[in-house]
Amino acid sequence: MMEGFTVAIDGPAAAGKGTVSRAVAEHFGFAHLDTGLLYRAVGAKVLEGMTAEEAAETLQAADLDNDLLRTNAVAEAASKAAAIPAVRAALVDFQRSFAMRAGGAVLDGRDIGTVICPDAQVKLFVTATPQVRAQRRFAELAASGEDVTLEQVLADVQARDARDSARAEAPLKPAQDAEQMDTSTMDIDTAVARAIELIAARRKG
Ligand code: C5P
Repeated sequence: MMEGFTVAIDGPAAAGKGTVSRAVAEHFGFAHLDTGLLYRAVGAKVLEGMTAEEAAETLQAADLDNDLLRTNAVAEAASKAAAIPAVRAALVDFQRSFAMRAGGAVLDGRDIGTVICPDAQVKLFVTATPQVRAQRRFAELAASGEDVTLEQVLADVQARDARDSARAEAPLKPAQDAEQMDTSTMDIDTAVARAIELIAARRKG
């Protein structure tokens, strides 16, 4: 069995990295971790009144299994908590051990290729224009019954991008050796096929 083959997929909100990550994990039989969920679980606890630091330090697997984590309010709280260095530090070990599991792993987030797994065998940075990403997120939120407008979602996506990119600790940015993929005008099958091609080539190498 292959040891520690890590695929790092980073990018801003709703760029398609989650969909690509799940599809490539399934294709190669790798485990998948959506690291945004960790920060969302911390954000959800902050909204319940806990400090972000305590929430991160006491996070349990069961906290990730919560439908509320997908809401806009939680995303916003997650992004605020994610700028706190002690919160990020508390989540590092879990992510690194996940990345090293036998059989391979795909982690998606903001800082996987730059901070969590700088030695990942494959690094992808998935982007799309803010308008396209807002449209996608709006469709998801509307389908799940959230009462939001496209303008609101666009403003939230832009605010979150700005906060994630400007923070001092582990800002959102492509690793120098990341392959960039813009999904603005690409359908999901094409994006997945490109990612699979890249990973297959690195595995052979
Ligand atoms: O990816 P998702 O939108 O679920 O992430 C929610 C928030 O968690 C992001 O806006 C970002 O602030 C934070 N995050 C992070 N580092 C990661 C994953 C998510 O800072 N690796």
